[in-house]
Amino acid sequence: MNMSQKISRRDFSKLLLTGATSASLGLFGTPSRAFGASKRVVVIGGGFGGAAAAKYLRKLDPSIAVTLVEPKAVFHTCPFSNWVLAGLRTMNDISQTYTVLKNKYQVNVIADSAVAIDSTRSTVKLKNGMVLSYDRLIVSPGIDFKWDAVPGHSEALANTRIPHAYQAGPQTTLLLNQLQSMRNGGKVIICPPANPFRCPPGPYERASLIAHYLKAKKPLSKILILDPKDKFSKQGLFKQGWEKLYPGMIEWRSGVTGGKVVKIDGTTMTVTTEFGEEKGDVINLIPPQKAGKIAFEAGLTDASGWCPVNPVSFESTIHPGIHVIGDSSIAGVMPKSGYAASSQGKVAAAAIVRLLQGKVPASPSLVNTCYSLIGTDYAISVAGVYKLTADGVVEIPGSGGLTPMNADADQLREEASFAVGWYNNIVHDTWG
Ligand SMILES: Cc1cc2nc3c(=O)[nH]c(=O)nc-3n(C[C@H](O)[C@H](O)[C@H](O)COP(=O)(O)OP(=O)(O)OC[C@H]3O[C@@H](n4cnc5c(N)ncnc54)[C@H](O)[C@@H]3O)c2cc1C
Repeated sequence: MNMSQKISRRDFSKLLLTGATSASLGLFGTPSRAFGASKRVVVIGGGFGGAAAAKYLRKLDPSIAVTLVEPKAVFHTCPFSNWVLAGLRTMNDISQTYTVLKNKYQVNVIADSAVAIDSTRSTVKLKNGMVLSYDRLIVSPGIDFKWDAVPGHSEALANTRIPHAYQAGPQTTLLLNQLQSMRNGGKVIICPPANPFRCPPGPYERASLIAHYLKAKKPLSKILILDPKDKFSKQGLFKQGWEKLYPGMIEWRSGVTGGKVVKIDGTTMTVTTEFGEEKGDVINLIPPQKAGKIAFEAGLTDASGWCPVNPVSFESTIHPGIHVIGDSSIAGVMPKSGYAASSQGKVAAAAIVRLLQGKVPASPSLVNTCYSLIGTDYAISVAGVYKLTADGVVEIPGSGGLTPMNADADQLREEASFAVGWYNNIVHDTWG
């Protein structure tokens, strides 16, 4: 006898609202090992934070039923997307899927978007109308852009002429195609955002790898970085690399020297700064950022536009029972990186396992490592280990590391090979 014969549509809708019923019916494809599980965790977002949290929850406590909500069947990683621009990787190389999470870890993956969170009823509504109940919710939606921050800019312009390429996928392909069809002798303008933003070294690695491509294919071309900031991540190391590998090709203009963009015109491909106008053949404007849309709509953000959390568990300080991880969260001095998001996902998973058992979460330590490729055999890195103090998340003194300014060619080559190892490890750890 099929289910529709036994339950009316109205009763069926009511059942969807009670997670225990949905789990026992296996309505969402709840896997056999999680069948009858008493606790349910829903994870919104299958990127670096969310996918790691979902997988580690299942590893730490297989009795928990974990549902991951992510609209994309294929996730393109931002890490190594700059390598794609340089022709050193393809889009296929940076693609990840949810097959292993589903089949090996029995995570119930739903290909849809969360459109509303009801923190009072502990439910998440999906775009397709389905409602999921949770005992704990993890929110890891990454970033959203402040489209109105630069007059003349818009999401439509970003999707056609001025890509940000700061969420990997079609945006990366658009920027790649523009670079490939640009004339020799053209000008690429990169406009990084103000702090805080996703991957602080990202725009500067991008400038390096676009220079790598242009040097080989279009050597008369130039790159102009118009920056609202007066300093940037790993600045000395980047500038040293640019002088060695791409002399005269990359110009960085700081905020005080006229780098702040005040207007953009996509028709004439003109960027206006406080000091004048610049025309570009390719313009890569990366807008200022805020927490992912669903975090905003659920009231998880504060006046800063990001989500305040208790760093022991990454539980929201606004809505108990909801944990915000990754770029959307305010994580003290930790940068907004994939490695940090993954580390936070594991900390949140471990904390949730204890909370669901009625225990107090242990005080965690968190980590971050970030490699930036400047040329094929030339990479730099920064690393840090973090702990909790009364002041929040702080770096443990002496724990971190930065490539030294006087590193020799062997060391820089070794860093480049470590970067590949880093990427392979983190994508395996998260989706593999
Ligand atoms: C060019 C570039 C290079 C980078 N290089 C590095 C690097 O080398 N190392 C490093 O550590 N980090 C790097 N990063 C940073 C890294 O990509 C991010 O910090 C990381 O992706 C953050 O993870 P997250 O889980 O917060 O967000 P994401 O990984 O972006 O995942 C968010 C997911 O949530 C989904 N989502 C959003 N809203 C909803 C919704 N309503 N319902 C369901 N799903 C939703 C999205 O589809 C997305 O898949 C780089 C970033 C860029 C742009």
